[in-house]
Amino acid sequence: MAGPQAKHNTGYPTDPACIFCKIIAGELPCARVYEDGSILAFLDISPIAKGHTLVVPKGHFPTLLDLPESGGEALFKALRLVAGAVKAETGAGGFNCVQNNFTPAGQVVFHSHIHIIPRFDNDGLPGWPGGRYADTDEMQQLARSISARTGK
Ligand code: 5GP
Ligand code: ZN
Repeated sequence: MAGPQAKHNTGYPTDPACIFCKIIAGELPCARVYEDGSILAFLDISPIAKGHTLVVPKGHFPTLLDLPESGGEALFKALRLVAGAVKAETGAGGFNCVQNNFTPAGQVVFHSHIHIIPRFDNDGLPGWPGGRYADTDEMQQLARSISARTGK
């Protein structure tokens, strides 16, 4: 029986219980807008705005932290192409690229993907709430701590 280590015939890891893996395998339908050897993009079934698109690496990698670096260029290329097509076709004035990771960030499907959300002037969608640091020392200290983890 195929388990999480099984491979799509594309050679990528797959999880037979994953809804996006089923779409990629052609076992479930989707409204496809783009496909290449490593990426599939299709319309979100529950769109924030019409044209809301998901750009999905074919490999079953649960979050951004699991995605292999080697696919980054192909993913960015596809994201850029699809975003331009969505913007042009919907007549959107702009778009958000959103990538949810882990439950507190709202991730529901644990097969990493990027949302392209068409945006229009005064479309009523909420903006980012602005927070604040206690002072610049707190901000700089946090930056140093994160930087130490990146090693750069
Ligand atoms: P997440 O919150 O994990 O970043 O987003 C998952 C997205 O996948 C949601 O916006 C949801 O509407 C979409 N979605 C879930 N199941 C399906 C499906 O079967 N087909 C399509 N096209 N989109 C789906
Ligand atoms: Zn999957």
